[in-house]
Amino acid sequence: MFPSAVEDAPPGFHSLGLSRSMLQALKSIGYAHPSPIQAAFIPEALDGNDVLGQAKTGTGKTAAFAIPLIEMLEGRGKGPQALILAPTRELVQQIVVEMKKLAHGQDVAICGIYGGEAIERQLRALHHGVDIIVGTPGRVIDHMERKTLVMTDIFHVVLDEADRMLDQGFRPDIERILRKVPNPHQTLLLSATISPEVRKLAERYMFEAVEVNLSRDEPSVESIAQYYVTVDHDRKIDLLVHLLRRDKPRQCIVFTRTKRGADKLALRLRGVVPGVATIHGDLPQNARNRVMQGFRDGSIPVLVATDVVGRGIDVNDISHIVNFDIPDDPENYLHRIGRTGRMGKDGVAYLFVCPDQGEPLTSIENLINKTLPPLKLEDFEAHRRRAKTDSSFRMLYSTAETRSTSQAALRQFG
Ligand code: AMP
Repeated sequence: MFPSAVEDAPPGFHSLGLSRSMLQALKSIGYAHPSPIQAAFIPEALDGNDVLGQAKTGTGKTAAFAIPLIEMLEGRGKGPQALILAPTRELVQQIVVEMKKLAHGQDVAICGIYGGEAIERQLRALHHGVDIIVGTPGRVIDHMERKTLVMTDIFHVVLDEADRMLDQGFRPDIERILRKVPNPHQTLLLSATISPEVRKLAERYMFEAVEVNLSRDEPSVESIAQYYVTVDHDRKIDLLVHLLRRDKPRQCIVFTRTKRGADKLALRLRGVVPGVATIHGDLPQNARNRVMQGFRDGSIPVLVATDVVGRGIDVNDISHIVNFDIPDDPENYLHRIGRTGRMGKDGVAYLFVCPDQGEPLTSIENLINKTLPPLKLEDFEAHRRRAKTDSSFRMLYSTAETRSTSQAALRQFG
């Protein structure tokens, strides 16, 4: 979708009125053309507007706000001028990495502040003078209370993955922080979905916001082949092993519902499938960093993750997503499969559905507005052989029945 060949200068970015040093940085990291969200968002932000952007991870949304922020910094070495809030430490770290790449060759100090690591490094960095702060709301408040984060020069605020921050209960923290930002200031908000809660937040804290919504043109979900597979609960691990051996994925994330489930599954896979690791909120930060490094460099092709952590993973080459446990909330299905097929690359997503999970499957299908095809399995028995009177056969039947009834209802009202 976005040609990766770097021409002499990226012509698309030229037309956005960016500085020489920014064009240089873009060229050096190989961004030849702006993604659709970047083309729409950057000029509005550079004009000084409050901008509300609907964009999922994988669309280039980080650079969409990072490029104008870096361009708009005025002088260096004062207090922080921009504050970016994001829901998880992984996302904070990824934003910092992306911003440092984009600020290449310029003297911009960017600092990530998040829980889960000793506060000393952050205190030292803040003390030395920082231009841009990227943080999770909790840790930002912590620094505000310690008076180690001075808000007086902040002129730009970004709320990244605003829907997720609200889902995670950060609303009071976000509001507390926003009240401390001096007026006037610019607010940029990015969110995968513009839910009523997100809109309420925007209405309250943004001024005449320009809305940029490109979700309909979004390439990522379309480039993913999605399948569901009905499988007995006690055949799920064998099915996973079968698929991993069959597909030999380049990089695969397996989503489980709980942290314990992730640990148990990783343990069961170890020794059966090479290069398996787990990542979830209970892992210490340095262990998480090690795992993510292994996933990036290809030494860990299979990562077992829970929703909160898995969502923040920013790796471009993810080829496979396995929904080992069906997500509690259908929205999470979209967030999960949004990990793959990024920037126009192809991916495949499997959804494991137990015989009694017809309803959650239908909710997902309603949300994505299409019927998922069943995965055709050869040489694999997804159900234990039982007499036809066995209850799981009845449940299987009811799964099919729920699906066809609700699809019929959809057709009728859709
Ligand atoms: P994001 O949606 O911010 O998570 O970005 C997804 C991935 O696309 C990241 O790995 C970025 O480094 C990459 N990316 C962002 N903008 C561009 C671009 N204009 N051209 C090529 N890759 C990009």
